[in-house]
Amino acid sequence: MSDVMILGEIKDGSLDLRTLELLGAGKKLAGDLGVSVSVVFLGDAVSAAAEQAVSYGPDRVYKLEHPLLKEFNADLWLASLEQACKKIKPNVFLMSHSFIGMELGPRLACRLNTRLTTDCIDLSIDPEDGLLLRTKPVSGGNAISVFKCPGEPQLATVRGKVFEPAETVEGKGEIADMVPKIDESMIKVESIEVIKEDVVSLDKANVVVSGGAGLGDEDGFEILQELSTALSKSFGRVMIGCSRMAVDKGWISSDHQVGLTGTMISPDIYVAVGISGAIQHLVGMIQSKKIIAINTDPSCNIFKVADYGIVEDYEKVVPALVKRLEEQS
Ligand SMILES: Cc1cc2nc3c(=O)[nH]c(=O)nc-3n(C[C@H](O)[C@H](O)[C@H](O)COP(=O)(O)OP(=O)(O)OC[C@H]3O[C@@H](n4cnc5c(N)ncnc54)[C@H](O)[C@@H]3O)c2cc1C
Repeated sequence: MSDVMILGEIKDGSLDLRTLELLGAGKKLAGDLGVSVSVVFLGDAVSAAAEQAVSYGPDRVYKLEHPLLKEFNADLWLASLEQACKKIKPNVFLMSHSFIGMELGPRLACRLNTRLTTDCIDLSIDPEDGLLLRTKPVSGGNAISVFKCPGEPQLATVRGKVFEPAETVEGKGEIADMVPKIDESMIKVESIEVIKEDVVSLDKANVVVSGGAGLGDEDGFEILQELSTALSKSFGRVMIGCSRMAVDKGWISSDHQVGLTGTMISPDIYVAVGISGAIQHLVGMIQSKKIIAINTDPSCNIFKVADYGIVEDYEKVVPALVKRLEEQS
């Protein structure tokens, strides 16, 4: 059976937005290949997510249910997906470039004797041979390359927020049950629970307000927090990001860092405050829909990618912006 298949992810009992983005991309690829599109969910009880997914128009939703799949365990999820892929034989299999996709993608490629391209920012089908063209940043973001590899399934992980999410449609695809053959003896690596009080998920934010060395000291982030609070009244989820320099100076923790060695994000709005725009930073935020930069140096790199730029000391501009936003709300 020919298929473009998507690994569905569930967050807090609901479909993760990245799954809808993958489905949006997958539908387009399936249309170009003239094949169907499906979503596969793993878990101990995934019926609600499967029902939710069918309303977004896949031809089929596979439920891989097993009590041992309740929590993510790489060994068991890998074995289940390997079995599913061998049975379904998808042409293309897409996962998001999430923790789960990054963990499973390389190992699944090895098990299925195929190739994987990670962190893709665009996907299309080569009309000559029907292979997947996988576009991704390379050389620390200095170049964009398009890869084409033989092997089935054509396997890729995809960066969040680069594809439009699928929309709901009339009519329903089918839901198919598959029971994976797994047991506890397959577990090679046990997960240790990581408990964090303040989890920073920059990739979930609508707006990211980032600060760099130009803030002068860590108190600068308090000024950015005021801007973040004011923006959140109009723009939903706003989070604080930063450059690596701000982390290196000890002003903020590394889970706020945007860039090559931080988080790759593409929010609706990115506000870069006192950030010069080094390539290692740009590669992490260049996909943002609108970029606003505040910097005292008119020749700095960040203005080359900014949609709007303000050449001024941030300590003058940011409080003025906060005041204006509060007047309007
Ligand atoms: C292998 C490698 C990986 C890296 N990964 C990352 C990464 O993931 N993310 C990342 O960010 N960096 C990364 N870096 C570091 C990167 O090269 C830069 O050093 C860093 O991004 C610079 O941070 P910055 O823009 O905050 O500081 P700077 O380059 O020092 O820029 C500070 C800016 O603030 C402006 N400024 C000063 N005062 C004010 C003011 N009062 N108001 C407004 N503007 C002001 C200045 O004009 C200047 O443009 C990496 C480097 C390497 C080698």
